[in-house]
Amino acid sequence: MNHIISGGNFHGEFRIVLRGPAGGFVLSKSQERKLDRALCGISDCKCGGGYGRGADWDSAETEMSDDGGLRLVPALDIAARAAREEELQRAAI
Ligand SMILES: [Zn+2]
Repeated sequence: MNHIISGGNFHGEFRIVLRGPAGGFVLSKSQERKLDRALCGISDCKCGGGYGRGADWDSAETEMSDDGGLRLVPALDIAARAAREEELQRAAI
């Protein structure tokens, strides 16, 4: 399945497509490089791909994996997490 990572940062808008299992996966080294280039392709830049408004609401995201690489989190999982957190907050009131 194609996962889209999109948003806006210090350098403007970014959008890349990474192909992998629907439930998420650890990025290959070439996928990591593709993501790095999309976030910041400037070798001596110190931004780290951050700043700006961040990921789009419907974007997949990445998190550190257990082996020190990056794991792709599908957009649907992020929406499900947000809904669950909202439910927990409502229950706490
Ligand atoms: Zn940069």
